[in-house]
Amino acid sequence: MRLFRRVTALSAALAVAAALGPAAHAAGAGAPKKVRTIVSLTFDDGDSTHPAVARMLEKYGMRGTFYVNTDTVGGEEKLTRRGLAAIAKAGHEIGGHTLTHVRLTELARGEQEPQICDDRRKLVSWGYRPVTLAYPFGAVDSDAMAVARRCGYDAARGVGGLREWSCPTCPGAESFRPKNRYDIRTPGSVREDTLLRHMRQQVLNAERTGGLLPLVFHRVCDDCGLYSVTPRRLNDFLGWLKDRRSRGTVVKPLKDAIGARHRPLPPADDPATAQG
Ligand SMILES: [Zn+2]
Repeated sequence: MRLFRRVTALSAALAVAAALGPAAHAAGAGAPKKVRTIVSLTFDDGDSTHPAVARMLEKYGMRGTFYVNTDTVGGEEKLTRRGLAAIAKAGHEIGGHTLTHVRLTELARGEQEPQICDDRRKLVSWGYRPVTLAYPFGAVDSDAMAVARRCGYDAARGVGGLREWSCPTCPGAESFRPKNRYDIRTPGSVREDTLLRHMRQQVLNAERTGGLLPLVFHRVCDDCGLYSVTPRRLNDFLGWLKDRRSRGTVVKPLKDAIGARHRPLPPADDPATAQG
C-alpha cells in the first residue's frame, strides 16, 4: 500500500513535469526547476468582456478557462458564438456552466440533468470538448455532483473553501489531485472590492504549500457591478503573476492543471436522464 502511494505520488509529479513540457525549457535560465503551484484563471458566465480578457491573457502567454451558459450565448452583454469561437481557437478551455445559470441545489435531480447534460451537449454540437463544469453561484449538492459525472464531466469547480479573508483557516491551495474532483475549491469570487494585494496574497498562500489555485472571475470592465474586476487591475495582477514562474508558479487552464479527460456524453434518450 505504501509503495503504491509512493508510485502514485511519483507519477503525479511526473505528470506535472510532463504537462509543463517544452515551454519550461524554452523559457531558458529563468525557468523554474519544478512546478509547485498552478494558478487556473477561470471566467464565468460567458460575458461579452471575455474575448478582450482572453487576448489580455495571451499577451502574457497564459491560457484561461471560460465557463459558458449556452442558452444565454448571443444575449445582451453575453458572448456571441463568434466571440466564443475566437476564445477557443486561441487555446483557452471552454467549460459548461448550465443552460441558463440556475441554482442547481434548488432543483430536483431530474431538473438538474437537462441543465447540465443539455448544456454540455450543445457545447459539443458547437465543436467544443468540455471536460470541466462550474456550478452557478458555486451551489452544489451530492445530486449535482452525481449528475455532473453522469453528463460526462471529468471534474467540476465550486466556489469557496480556500483561504481568503472570510476563511483564514482554510487551506491556501487545492491538491493537484483534488479530494473531491466534482467540487474543486477556490477562494471566493474576485469582486470589485478585491484589491490587487488580495489577489497576490492568495497566490502567496498557495505557494506556501504548493498546489492548485483556481481563481474565479466574472465581468472584466470598469464600474460594472460587484462581481467584476477592472481591466487595469487584472492586467497588473497578470504582470505580477507571470514573474512568479521563477518560484515554480505557472498558469494553466483548469482541465490541464488536473489532467481532466474527455468522457462521452450519455445518450440523449437514456431513461436515467429523464428520471425525477
Ligand atoms: Zn456564474
